[in-house]
Amino acid sequence: MNENFHIRKVAVLGAGVMGAQIAAHLVNANVPTILFDLPAREGDPNGIVNKALDGLKKLEPSPLASPAKLNFIAAANYGQHLEQLRDCDLVIEAIAERMDWKSELYHKVAPYLGERTIFASNTSGLSINKLAEAFPENLRHRFCGIHFFNPPRYMHLVELIACEKTDALLLDQLETFLVSGLGKGVVRAKDTPNFIANRIGVFSLLATLHHAERLGLGFDTVDALTGSYLGRPKSATFRTLDVVGLDTFAHVVNTMRDNLHDDPWHSYFAVPDWLNGLIEQGALGQKSRRGVYQKVGKDIHVLVVHTKKYRLSAGKVDDTVKELLRQRDWAAKLEGLRNSAHPQAQFVWRVFRDVFHYCGVHLPRIADNARDLDFAVRWGFGWGSGPFEIWQAVGWQKVLGWINEERAAGKTMSDVELPHWAQDPARTGVHSAQGSYSPALGIDQPRSVLPVYRRQEFPERLLGEEAHYGETIFENESVRMWHGSEKLMDGHPNDDIAILSFKSKMHIIGDEVLDGILRAVDEAEANWRGLIIWQTEPPFSAGANLLQLMQGVQPASEDAGMFDKLKQAANRVKYTVAGGGGLSQVLNAATGNVPQVEAVVAKFQQVTQRIKYAQVPVVSAVDGLALGGGCEIIMHSARVVATLESYIGLVEVGVGILPAGGGSKEAALRAAQEAKGGDLFPFLKRYFQNIAMGEVAKSAELAREMGYLRAGDRIVMNHFELLHVAKNELRALTATDYRPPLPPTQIPVAGRTGTATLQAAMINMLEGGFISAHDYKVGCAVADTLCGGDVEAGSLVDEQWLLDLERKHFMELLATDKTQERIEYMLKNGKPLRN
Ligand code: NAD
Repeated sequence: MNENFHIRKVAVLGAGVMGAQIAAHLVNANVPTILFDLPAREGDPNGIVNKALDGLKKLEPSPLASPAKLNFIAAANYGQHLEQLRDCDLVIEAIAERMDWKSELYHKVAPYLGERTIFASNTSGLSINKLAEAFPENLRHRFCGIHFFNPPRYMHLVELIACEKTDALLLDQLETFLVSGLGKGVVRAKDTPNFIANRIGVFSLLATLHHAERLGLGFDTVDALTGSYLGRPKSATFRTLDVVGLDTFAHVVNTMRDNLHDDPWHSYFAVPDWLNGLIEQGALGQKSRRGVYQKVGKDIHVLVVHTKKYRLSAGKVDDTVKELLRQRDWAAKLEGLRNSAHPQAQFVWRVFRDVFHYCGVHLPRIADNARDLDFAVRWGFGWGSGPFEIWQAVGWQKVLGWINEERAAGKTMSDVELPHWAQDPARTGVHSAQGSYSPALGIDQPRSVLPVYRRQEFPERLLGEEAHYGETIFENESVRMWHGSEKLMDGHPNDDIAILSFKSKMHIIGDEVLDGILRAVDEAEANWRGLIIWQTEPPFSAGANLLQLMQGVQPASEDAGMFDKLKQAANRVKYTVAGGGGLSQVLNAATGNVPQVEAVVAKFQQVTQRIKYAQVPVVSAVDGLALGGGCEIIMHSARVVATLESYIGLVEVGVGILPAGGGSKEAALRAAQEAKGGDLFPFLKRYFQNIAMGEVAKSAELAREMGYLRAGDRIVMNHFELLHVAKNELRALTATDYRPPLPPTQIPVAGRTGTATLQAAMINMLEGGFISAHDYKVGCAVADTLCGGDVEAGSLVDEQWLLDLERKHFMELLATDKTQERIEYMLKNGKPLRN
C-alpha cells in the first residue's frame, strides 16, 4: 500500500520530566505540538503546562534546539481543550506511572481521538496489553508503547512495543517517523516489564551493587572501574544513578520486583536499605543536590554505606587492574580480569559474567533478536558495545565455559541453566553477516527492511562489523577521496558523487588536508557531479592546524619537555593554531618564520575560495563539532547539510587570533547581503559578537540563527541519514544547473565608524572588568576586519580586500606575547586562557 503517512501535529499528555522534553524534541523536529496536563487548581488553567514550558528554558543541556522553538508548543489542559486532540495524528501519553491514572485518562480522551490518530504510551514498565484494555476494542489497533529515554533529545533509543491488537502497518509508519523525523534509533521490544534496555541496564546496576557490596568496594571505586575503561559514559554507575534520580531507579527496580516473580534473579530485585534511606531523606541525586555523591565547596564527596556519612571521593583503580582494563581487546581484558585475584578485577568480571548469563537466559522473552538487545543497551545506556557483542568478541564458547563452570561452583547470582541455543557447541556468536540470532526464528535475523533504513548508507555497526566505504579515488595520510561502489542494473555507476573524508585526528585541517581538498575539488570538477565533505565518524572538524601546515608534520605532544622548550623559545617561536577551544589536539607549535606562516594562511584562504567557486557544488555534511577552520569550510560550501547535533562556531579568539581562512571575510559579506542595502550595522554586530566571544552554536538551529548556516542549508535529525540527504541535496543542485556564485566586487562595509562603534562597546566592557586588555585588542582586530578596515562607511570592497585584512590582523595578533601565551596554555591544558 502506498498510502502517504504524515504526522502533522502531535499531542503530548503529561508535562512532567518526560512529556515536556518529548514535546521539546518534537518541535526541534518542526512538528507542532500541544502539551496537555491537568487543569491547575488555581489561576491560569494551563498553569501546570506553562510552568513546565518555563522549566524547559532552564534545563542544561537544553532540550530545545533553540529557545525560539518553544513558541511551537501550545499549552492545553484536559478541562478545556480535549477537542484539540482531533487534529493530532499522534498522541503520546507521558503521565505519572500509574495504571489506574493512565486508564482513567484513556477513557477520558478516547472519544476525542481523530479517526486515524495513533495513541502511544511512554510508560517505562507497565504492560502495554493491560493499558490497551482501557480503550474500546475498536481503538486498540491504534495503540502501542513508545518508550523514550531521558533526556529524549540526546538519547538515541526509542523502544516501540506493540500490544496484541496493534496494527503492523501503523507501527512501521510510526517507526519511520521516529527514525527519520525525530532522529531516533528504534528497537522493537516485547511487552515485558521494563522492556529491553531498562531490564538489562537495571539488572546490570543491581549486579554491580551486589558484587560491589560483597567485595567491599566504595561507590567511587566502582565508578572509576565501570566508566570509560568499559567503553561507557564517564558518569559510570553511581553518578549516572544520581543524574537519573534515585527515586526513578527505585521505581524501576520495584516494577521488576512486583512484576517479575518468575525471574530466576528475582531475589536481587530490591532497593538496598541505604538507597531507600537516601530517598526518604529527599536525597534523590542531582535534582536535590545530594544522592550517592554530594558537592561540598569545590570537592565531590561520596557516601560510605556503613558509616552513612560522606567522605572525599577518590576512586582509585589499582595499577595492576588498570593494566588489565586498558587492554583494547575484549578477550584479553576479560580473561585477564577473571584470572586476577584482585577484588577490583574480580568485581568487573563477575558483573560481566552475571549480565551475560542474564541476557542469555532472557533474550527469547524480551527481544526479537540479539541485535535489538545490544542496540537497546547501547542507545539507552550509552554503552560502547552491548553485552552480546562483548560475549562474542571474547569468544562465545570460552565465556559459556566460564559461566557454566562458575554456575556449577555456585558462584553465579542464579543457578539457572542457559538455554539450548546458547549452549550449542557449534555456536561462535549471535551476530553474523546474515543477521543476529533470533531464538524464536532459530536463525540469524537480518536487519529491518523498512524503506526508511535505505536512507542510512552506513547504519550503526555491531562490534566486529566492517563498513565498506566505497572505492578510493585518491588517498594521502590525511584525506581519502572516494565514491560509492554500487552499480545500477545497466552497469552504470549509481554513484557519480565524490566524497572527501578526513583521516586526521579530530579531523583537524593540516597542510595535507588542504592539499587534499584542492586536489579533490580539481578531481570533482573533472570527473564527478560534485563533492561532499563527510566524515565517517564525527566530528566534522575541530579546526585548522596552522602550525602543522607551516612546519610539516609535528604531531601534538603531551610531553612536558616539549613545553619547556616552547617556553625557552618563546620569543623567536611563532605559534599558531587551529580554532578549537578546549581541544588540545587542535593546537600545535613549532619554530617558524613569518613569511611561511603567512603563506599557510593564504593557502587556507585559497582553499575556502576554491570550495566556494568550484564549478561543481561542494556540500559539507556536518555532524558534531565544526570549529574554527571547520566552520570556515562549511561557510564556503555551496550547501551545508548538518545534523541537529552540530556544534558550529568561529572560536579562534580563544587562542588570541581571528578567523583568517575566509571566515571573517564571509561574515562581513553575509552581513552586507543580509542588510540588503539597508543599515549594515545590526547584521554586522551579530557576527562580531559571535566571533569576538568565540561562541559555539549548541545546535544546528542555533548555528542558523548565528548566521553560520544559511536559510537554504538543511538540518537532518538522524545522523545516519546525513550522507543520504547530502547526496540528494547535491543532486538537486546539479539537476537545476548549478553555477557557482559570482564573486562580489561591491561589498559595502561599515568602515571606521563601524569599528569605532564596536570599540566603544568593548571599552565599556574593558572598564567594567568584563574583558581583558588582550581581549580588547583581539576584539578590535575582529571589528576592524568585519568593518572593512580604515575606510569611509559605505565604501565598496571586494573579497580579496577583506581576505588581505583578516590575514594582516592574524599575523599581527600572532606576534603578540599574550596570544602566544594563550596558545601555549591551550596546548598544555586543553582549555582557553583569558589573559
Ligand atoms: P513526572 O512525575 O515528571 O510527570 C508526570 C505528569 O503526570 C505530571 O505532569 C502530572 O501533572 C501528571 N499527572 C499526574 N497524575 C495525573 C493524572 N491522574 N492524570 C493526568 N495526569 C497526571 O513523570 P515522568 O518522569 O515524566 O514520567 C512520565 C511517564 O514517562 C511515566 O510513565 C514514566 O514511567 C515514563 N518514563 C519516565 C522516564 C524518566 O526518566 N523520568 C523515562 C522514560 C519513561
